[in-house]
Amino acid sequence: MGNSNTINRLPFNKPFIAGRELYNIAEAVLKNQHLSGDGNFTHLCQDWLVQHIGGVKAMLTHSCTGALEMSAILANITTGDEIILPSFTFVSTANAFVLRGGVPVFVDIRKDTLNIDEAKIEAAITSKTKAIVPVHYAGVPCAMNKIMEIARRHNLLVIEDAAQALLSSYEGKRLGAIGDLGCFSFHETKNIITGEGGALLINNPIFSERAEIIWEKGTNRKKFFRGEVDKYTWVDIGSSFLPSELTAAFLAAQFERAHEIIAKRKRLFMLYIDLLKGVVERIASPNTEEDVNGHLFYLITNSLDERHRLITWLADHGISSVFHYVPLHSSPAGRRLGRVSGDMRVTDEMGERLLRLPLFYEMTEQDVERVCSLVLQFYQKNNAKFKT
Ligand SMILES: *Cc1c(COP(=O)(O)O)cnc(C)c1O
Repeated sequence: MGNSNTINRLPFNKPFIAGRELYNIAEAVLKNQHLSGDGNFTHLCQDWLVQHIGGVKAMLTHSCTGALEMSAILANITTGDEIILPSFTFVSTANAFVLRGGVPVFVDIRKDTLNIDEAKIEAAITSKTKAIVPVHYAGVPCAMNKIMEIARRHNLLVIEDAAQALLSSYEGKRLGAIGDLGCFSFHETKNIITGEGGALLINNPIFSERAEIIWEKGTNRKKFFRGEVDKYTWVDIGSSFLPSELTAAFLAAQFERAHEIIAKRKRLFMLYIDLLKGVVERIASPNTEEDVNGHLFYLITNSLDERHRLITWLADHGISSVFHYVPLHSSPAGRRLGRVSGDMRVTDEMGERLLRLPLFYEMTEQDVERVCSLVLQFYQKNNAKFKT
């Protein structure tokens, strides 16, 4: 009694199965008898993306990492080309371009959204700059009007890392559908999942034809199947970026319930905001004015030490919480392969103070209440300590 074995444990994340995933996989295997990529389920998913997000063409990939790598090839990144991106992001945002010989140039983030600070982008532009890669952290939109305006003025491409931003909007436009290219993730930690998976959304039609070739190992296989060429051959660089139909079949089942899944996550997200707002003044929360997709909920602790104590306190009560990111500019590879533009004050601070709380589809409102009440207790306890 009262020992840790009796604690009702709340995981940080739990992959949600929407319902028809395994039926769809059975259909791909038994009925369609098409297991490799670019079959019915792939087409279904790609059509869904164009219909619900936008773009002129969507291509499923094996990951968002793969979609970013395709983007780097499409952008013709070569040795010494520079790419402007936040340091507060996942490694793939930078790695995809480094693989082509590009140099990531890290710009600090805004304190309110934790997205790239658009006011600091122009200072990072040089004659070698090729692209800006805004990351919509937590599904919260970057200042896309300003970013697009800067990019147009300097003739740069905009590649949105919308890995966390499926079905979020900015001024009525879906994220990922605003820049030249948009990259999505369906990794099991994201809102809509297929184990490992992603998509490239092509908004600028000049990339459509070459993207098909890069996707299919640098061959003109798609043109061949459409009867547009009489030989199927090697025509460009490329790789195997397409997922199998098993992956697409799983994803198609998730898309059927995507709006519902995101609506539920948003409700939980808003409940977090509500329960923690004002009561604990020291907690900052994401700006919710834009149409965010409830991807993740974070709070900003006062210090690295306080974060550590809060993680321990929550863990002692059965709640898993996690932090990220180790800023890329201070990571071993980031230091070697990239450079910073300006100071990284907010990035460094958030890397030490941000804490993510559990948020997943099957969480109940009671779960959120339980987490919030523990967070509040933690801060009340500490305040009491300060007074004595
Ligand atoms: C998850 C994530 C990725 C990578 O997605 P994968 O599908 O795992 O390759 C890239 N960028 C950001 C911002 C992410 O959150």
